[in-house]
Amino acid sequence: MMMSRRRLGSCPPGLFGEIQTSIRTEPLDSLYEMTSELGRGKFAVVKKCVEKATGKEFAAKFLRKRRRGRDCRAEIVHEMAVLEAARNNPRVVNMHAAFETDHDIVLLLEYAAGGEIFDHCISDEPLPERQITRLLRQMLEGVHLLHQSSVVHLDLKPQNILLTSLSPLGDIKLVDFGLARRLGTAGELREILGTPEYVAPEILNYEPITTATDLWSVGVIAYMLVVGESPFLGEDKQETFLNVSQVNVDYCREAFAQVSELAVDFIRKLLVKAPEDRPSAAECLAHPWLWNLGLETDCPMPRTPRERSVGKWAVPPEDREDKENFLDSPYGKRVRLEEAVSEGGL
Ligand code: ADP
Ligand code: MG
Repeated sequence: MMMSRRRLGSCPPGLFGEIQTSIRTEPLDSLYEMTSELGRGKFAVVKKCVEKATGKEFAAKFLRKRRRGRDCRAEIVHEMAVLEAARNNPRVVNMHAAFETDHDIVLLLEYAAGGEIFDHCISDEPLPERQITRLLRQMLEGVHLLHQSSVVHLDLKPQNILLTSLSPLGDIKLVDFGLARRLGTAGELREILGTPEYVAPEILNYEPITTATDLWSVGVIAYMLVVGESPFLGEDKQETFLNVSQVNVDYCREAFAQVSELAVDFIRKLLVKAPEDRPSAAECLAHPWLWNLGLETDCPMPRTPRERSVGKWAVPPEDREDKENFLDSPYGKRVRLEEAVSEGGL
């Protein structure tokens, strides 16, 4: 399968062009003390920093203005504009200020001290199911609000979903809006974007991108949180693409032995090839799995025989003889994943 990344033209569909935040030019070092590195991507480095005047911590995202010999200021302004548009979304990281240096535009972002949920996808100590469902609810709330304003994230993955604190486990903050787009403004969006493991089949097939594209990624993330493995990751990129386009998920594997029927039902409904058959973020939020264990009680999770099918968002009939305390059960084997990210996406 031939994959190419289409270059963004001067006015690609779905890009935001205007920002309200002023990009300041005074020396960053005089106002902020940079400390440790928090993460890095192909064109960005994120550093923890402290505002000298207030002692407050921030995450400074240094975005290179020139990439592969090209001026990418428009893409950076777009990322800022999406953050501005999502300012009232409590599940999206807040942008505090922006600065410009010779090489970079630096976004001063709310610091998410709990790190990436990726760490919980590969950890030997899986999260309790009631934490997974709480985080998924918050993620879906954030995605729902984005979608309500016709914004699609298009790069939802465990590395771009952060936590406000680690212990106790805090709340979700969505980051990295570099690939986000506005839908419905300038015709159909069919750009090829994203990270192989997490992209939906319609992206690989160059079919229209919709809000459902993000819901596929939510399904992949839910799978990873529950099972501890990436569902479509192959030996190489081509195998990953093939797994995605064939929706090659084996729900009968040993890895699923300890996973509740409702969790499987939730994931199964998202990982479907036809975007129109996936539930919306709002519909996902009504799924019984997300609420059963969301309460503070440690009520045992009813597990029903694997073959039993459940209707759309219908709670499966409870089998009292088949109760097991899911929270006490070990999850499937967890493996460390190599990030199969190619240069800037596909
Ligand atoms: P890129 O576009 O290069 O992927 P991201 O915005 O995803 O950049 O940031 C890269 C990494 O930096 C994230 O995966 C995360 O680990 C860390 N990071 C980003 N923003 C923050 C933040 N606000 N607080 C804490 N860590 C952050
Ligand atoms: Mg990222």
